[in-house]
Amino acid sequence: MENKKKLRCGVIGVGYLGQHHARIYSELEKTELVGVFDSNSERAAEIAAKHGCRVFPTIEALADAADALSVVVPTDRHTEVALPLLERGCHLLIEKPICTSVEDAQKIVRLAREKDLTVQVGHIEHFNPVMNFMEAHVSNPKYIKTERLAEFKLRGTEVGVVLDLMIHDIGIVLKLANSEVESVDAVGVNVLSRTEDIANARIKFKNGCVADLNASRVSLKRVRDLRLFQRGGYMSLDFMNQSGHIVKVGESGIEQIEVPFDKQEPLKAELDSFADCVLNHKNPKVGANLGGKALEIALEITRQIAPNLQQK
Ligand code: NAD
Repeated sequence: MENKKKLRCGVIGVGYLGQHHARIYSELEKTELVGVFDSNSERAAEIAAKHGCRVFPTIEALADAADALSVVVPTDRHTEVALPLLERGCHLLIEKPICTSVEDAQKIVRLAREKDLTVQVGHIEHFNPVMNFMEAHVSNPKYIKTERLAEFKLRGTEVGVVLDLMIHDIGIVLKLANSEVESVDAVGVNVLSRTEDIANARIKFKNGCVADLNASRVSLKRVRDLRLFQRGGYMSLDFMNQSGHIVKVGESGIEQIEVPFDKQEPLKAELDSFADCVLNHKNPKVGANLGGKALEIALEITRQIAPNLQQK
């Protein structure tokens, strides 16, 4: 029988994205928002007032009052926040990327396993209806091409575009290709920041699938597109607008069919699924292992790009 108890949730880091974690925990049937913590206490007070919850003076105090926490601090702070929380016995939703080193990701995976705690990583596109459609209709992809573009913002520049944006598409192609990675070949440059702003990576999988990923954070427009080719046809899908079509050979020749998506807020689906996993002891759709694997590929891409970066 499914557990009907509400999960007591809290959010650490209520900046651009964390405010939405707080809103959604206050809205979902499965969860109760007990409070927030942010190193910027004014920001914490503003978000707590908006959603009628407490501001906690320390991370530890919030951890003691909650069963599960979202870690939505800048990426280079994930490990220092997450490890002590796992030690204290909290289930965690850690925003993507899981952290910034493979060693730290392994520590998170090990500690969560030792303590029998749920760790879900915020690879939000896995909860987008576009991903649900692909999981139902993709069997043996041969070639996947992705494009993820964003305007430049100072927020998020503690890491390059690969860890910030391309990591989403790495997670997606790892799941769809469903094969070991054979090789990674990457190029990229920095334009406005110290880390890469534009990157291209070709990932070859052992089963023959090839993924060609493009990401930029110095674009004038936002794009999150994917095209996927498999025997018999292809699909062209848009994660941002939750729209797209498939093309295949039908009785009257080549047919283009629009996909009727039931639009939904991916973050809401993600947090609802996290709460369900914690309450009912299920494995998360994107656990620390997949999050760690995506990070490992992302770090290999940034390692190849690093010699091209100019610091003047
Ligand atoms: P942000 O800078 O807007 O917010 C971060 C907040 O954390 C700030 O309010 C800051 O005061 C607070 N903070 C910093 N260090 C802290 C600490 N040690 N303890 C407590 N609070 C601390 O950043 P953001 O854009 O919201 O990004 C946060 C995380 O979310 C990053 O890991 C980012 O990659 C991820 N993110 C994911 C998506 C997605 O699509 N899944 C989108 C945006 C951001």
